[in-house]
Order: sequence, then structure tokens, then C-alpha cells
Amino acid sequence: MGLELARVEEIAKIINVPEPPTSAKKKKKHKEPKHGSWSIEDSENQYRIKGWGEPYFSINAAGHVTVSPRGDRGGSLDLFELVNALRDRNLALPLLIRFSDILEDRIERLNASFAKAIARYNYDGSYRGVFPIKCNQQRHLVEDLVKFGKPFQFGLEAGSKPELMIALATLDNPGSLIICNGYKDREYIETAMLAQKLGQTPIIVLEQVEEVEIAIEAAQSLGIEPNLGVRAKLNSKGMGRWGGSSGDRAKFGLTIPEIIMVVDRLREAKMLNCLQLLHFHIGSQISSISVIKEAIIEASKIYVELAQLGANMRYLDVGGGLGVDYDGSQTNFHASKNYNMQNYANDIVAEVKDACAEKKVPVPILVSESGRAVVSHQSVLIFDVLGSSEVRSELPHPPNENEHAIIRNLWEIYNTINLENFQEAYHDVTQFKEEALNRFNLGYLSISERARAEQFYWACCRKILDIINDEDYVPDDLEELEQMMSSIYYVNMSVFQSAPDSWAIDQLFPIMPIHRLGEEPTQRGILADLTCDSDGKIDQFIDLRDVKPVLELHSLKKHKPYYLGLFLAGAYQEIMGNLHNLFGDTNAVHIKLTPKGYQIEHVVKGDTMKEVVGYVQYDAEDLMENIRKKSEQALQEKRITLQESQRLMQNYESSLGRYTYLSPPPRD
Ligand SMILES: *Cc1c(COP(=O)(O)O)cnc(C)c1O
Repeated sequence: MGLELARVEEIAKIINVPEPPTSAKKKKKHKEPKHGSWSIEDSENQYRIKGWGEPYFSINAAGHVTVSPRGDRGGSLDLFELVNALRDRNLALPLLIRFSDILEDRIERLNASFAKAIARYNYDGSYRGVFPIKCNQQRHLVEDLVKFGKPFQFGLEAGSKPELMIALATLDNPGSLIICNGYKDREYIETAMLAQKLGQTPIIVLEQVEEVEIAIEAAQSLGIEPNLGVRAKLNSKGMGRWGGSSGDRAKFGLTIPEIIMVVDRLREAKMLNCLQLLHFHIGSQISSISVIKEAIIEASKIYVELAQLGANMRYLDVGGGLGVDYDGSQTNFHASKNYNMQNYANDIVAEVKDACAEKKVPVPILVSESGRAVVSHQSVLIFDVLGSSEVRSELPHPPNENEHAIIRNLWEIYNTINLENFQEAYHDVTQFKEEALNRFNLGYLSISERARAEQFYWACCRKILDIINDEDYVPDDLEELEQMMSSIYYVNMSVFQSAPDSWAIDQLFPIMPIHRLGEEPTQRGILADLTCDSDGKIDQFIDLRDVKPVLELHSLKKHKPYYLGLFLAGAYQEIMGNLHNLFGDTNAVHIKLTPKGYQIEHVVKGDTMKEVVGYVQYDAEDLMENIRKKSEQALQEKRITLQESQRLMQNYESSLGRYTYLSPPPRD
């Protein structure tokens, strides 16, 4: 242990965990950069990369995103060049790139933060975190986690039987904990208990009253003294999306009277010494440090009381909730957090210490189940833009005096729009457009007249938008204009597969081009994915002030690929992604820095069409056979030539073996 602590402190010194910010930043209006010469700094501000990306992501002089997987401790690579090199190796887009060094850095940072807090408050105990497997179960990632966590005795948390299977087989460090959560049956509990005989340290957390009887019976029949814990339903509620994870009506955990019942029952069975851990989890992505603090205060009191009731308390497990600053605003907005990892560790250590000192109870080993904060940063999804559609707003030729009054009126307004009257003009042109539609429906306006009216309308909107863009203040009723005039960029990915939380719960992820960042992004667009589902789009983007309805993008160049990166999506997205429209898993690669550059550690090929149709019980051979029969029939009836039928069969067969996504133009 002594050696390991020394290593922890050493790492705490290397990783300079920043001191807490003094106060949360106020949200203020995001200002459009002025036109003119565009610099890398302008792009940094535009995409807020310093806010959410430090210390891993930045922009280099070539205008490309760079990745520094070891943070500020040296070594970086050009993400654009990396994507080109991977494409040269036939790894098609969309492509998920995992940086194992970032994962290592996150684990070290988390442990360093606790080590620093423990030293600062003279806390007479240690920290032993676990990774909740449900956050990202991919084998290569979990194996890396176990490897990188070894010096810190970092363990795993299982929330189900299959996750327990992974944890027991993967973790190979006796001192690391295996926290056993979730619904349990006799088999789950027995398996966990027996793992103790393999030299592992499983702790079975009782979450339901029924589980105590199963645990007592299993322990007695196996003759094992198990490590038990209880999960408390705290009164303190996490806010926002996952607020329902705590409180009396939470799905998991025991109320205070139930905890007392469990204590009594264990005492009766002479097993109270097995009760060693108190666990709580108030939800994920807790944005406000005060919510965390309140929960810690309540939990520490319960811990101390349990110790005084005679339980053999050794661990306090504070669950997950440590947030990720997706928008980089450092606020208690749902996509952000108003504290950093060090604040988090400091508050936990200080509050637990105080509560224990007050009742003269020895301090516990601290456990956290931080998932999101550990794995979000390590992966980047790269996808290309297939094309775009823009709102056409060129000014049509002026009307003559015989044209419809609506058209002439719109033209007149167009000529008078200025800084003073743009708001009024907007309302007027909107009214004229509606009027044109009404008359068209009643048969008083021809289709070409309606087309002319709409062209003038859009030209007016463009002129108004240009005026607004130079202003600091946009009247509320004109905010929709930017969205209305924005382009649609069609992207080669499925939101349902790669960013399901963006669709399901409106989660925000930072998205930006990974090249051309020395150029001004002159377009404003939303992203539409490959699925033919109108929900398959991204139209909310991070901003300092609330969210933005459009993203700043570059205009597309003919036959040149345009790559976007979706960042911080390493937690929860992969396993929850689904096969909507049968777009399968994306290709994934694991990249590690080497002294000479980098190395591709693993390539995990995405699904082929054969595989995705297999998931819905089609057999590729049968499908081929059906097509063969159909073309044979068509040949007989001379509806198809032999050549055509061969071509069709070849395409069909090779498609089945191919990636489910589209192929972008060849790289530069
Ligand atoms: C989901 C979950 C976690 C992980 O939470 P994060 O906010 O991702 O750190 C931890 N513990 C339990 C019990 C969970 O259900």
C-alpha cells in the first residue's frame, strides 16, 4: 500500500489538477465574430474548444484539430492527418477513434484529485474507485481500464448479471473492488460470494429488502463470510434528467426504515460484521456542486450511524454523478457543471471527515463509481458530409407594373429594409407570404406568381438576417429567422446508432469540423443523418448562452471531403445505439501514442449488411438465393439481359459483405 500511495502522490504532482474556480461564469450572449480575416483563435472561440476540450483537444496552425491524449504532459497528433491515414488503411467513415492514452489520463486525474484532497485534509483513509461497466462495456476499453487502474487499485462496478460475468473474469487485481449492484437472484449472489475464494473483493450491495434473505441463506449454505453493503435512498435529490435516481420513490435502494430492518436481520443472523459499505447514487451528470455536497452530508451521517449500530463499516461509496462539461460554460446548465474534479474530491473528503470526526468513527475508504467522467473524453466520432441543401435567397428580377400587388409590395419592402425598420419589415413580409399562400389556395394566384412571391420573401429574409448578424441584440421574434435560413448538411452517420442520447434526451455534444479551421465558416446549418426518420437530425448545438439552433460550417468544395467530429461521446452512446434503418455499428480503432508517433492497437470492424440483416433473422444466403431465382425468372421472360442480371447479382452479393454506411469522395 505504501508504495502505491507514493505513486498516487507522484502522479498528483505530475498532473496538475487545477484549483477550483472561484465562482461560476455567468451565461452571456454569444457574439458573432466580426467578418474579415479569420484566424485560428476565431475558430477556437466559435466552437468553444478550450471550454470543453482542454487539455485534450485544440487547433493547430494548419487549422486542424489536434489531440493531446496525455493532456499537458506532451505528445500530440493531428486528427485530420490521422483520419486520412486511417482511410488509407481502408477504414471507412463514420469512424470511432478511441485514444487509450486519454482513458489512462482520466483515471490518473481522478485518482490524483482524490490523492490531493486526502493530503490536503489529512484524511486518514484512502480512495478506491470503481468503473461502472454499464457506461461502456467494450472489451478493449474495459481491459485497458483494468490495466491503467492497477496502480490505484481501481475496480469495477456491475449493475447486472452479465456485467458481473465481465467484472469477475476481467479484474485481476486482488485489492480492487467489485461492487455488485442491480437486481440480484440467488445465482448472482452466490457467484459473487464464491469469487471471494478466487482472491477477489466483491461487495454485494443490497438494494432490495428481499435480497437480504437470499444473501443470508447463500452465505450460510456456502459457509462464506461475504462483504455486504446497503444502497440508501437519500432524501437529497439530484437535479435534472436523472433526479429520479434518489428520493423515496427511486427505483433502487433502501429507505431508512428498510436499512434498519436489514441491520436487525443481519444482527439476528450473526452477520452484522459483514455489513461494510454504504452506497448511494443520486443520478448522472450532476451539474451543481451544492447538490453533491448535500447528498454527501446526508450519506456521511447515515454511515456514522451504521457504524454506531455495530456494523463493520469500512467503505463509503458515493456512486456516479461526476459531470462532464459538454458546452464548456462551467455553469450548472444541464450540459455543463459548475465544479471540477478537484472540487468534487475536496467536498467528499472534507464532509466525510467532518462527519466521522464528530462521532469519533474511523473514516471510511472512499469509493466512487464515476463512469461518464472517466470514459467520455476518450472517443471521437468522425463522419463526413455527403452534401448540403441551402435556402435559395437570390434576388429575382424586379417585377413590372402588371405583376400582382403582393409581388410588387414585397419588392418595395426589399428596397427599404434597413437597420431601423428590419423588425417591422420582417413582420410585413411574413404577412405577405401568408397572403400569397391564401390567394393561391383560393385560385387567385398562379403557381408562377406564388413562386415569385416566395423568392422575394426569401430575398427579404436574407437581407434582414445580414443586418441582424452584425447586431449584438436580436429581438426574440427574429430568433427563428436564423434557423429558417440555415442549410441542411447531410451527414454520413446515424444519430440513433452513434449519438442516441442526442435524439432520446436532447443531450448536447460538442460537434465541429476537424479541418479548414483557418477559414471562416460562412454557412449556418443543422445536421441531418442517413436514416429516413425526421428525428434523425441534430439541431441543437453547444453555446455559451443556452443552446444554438445552428452550427457554423464551411461551404462544401466539389469532390473534397468535409469531416466533422463529435466529441465527448464515449459514455453510454455505444451500447444504447440502435440499428434504426439497419445502420450498424461503426468502425472503431484504438490509437496509442508512441515516441515516434502513434500506433493502431486494435481495429474493431463495424457491422456489414450481412450482419445487420442477420440481427433481424434474415439469412444472407437465403436472400441471395431469392434474388437469383427472381433474376432467373426475369431472364426466362426476357425482362433482363444476362449482363444486367450478372451486374445485379454482383452488386447484391458485394453489398452484403460491405459497411452499412455510404462511401465519401476519396481523400485529398
Ligand atoms: C449509472 C450509474 C453510475 C455511473 O454514473 P456516472 O454519472 O456515469 O458516473 C454509477 N453508479 C450507479 C449505481 C449507476 O447506476
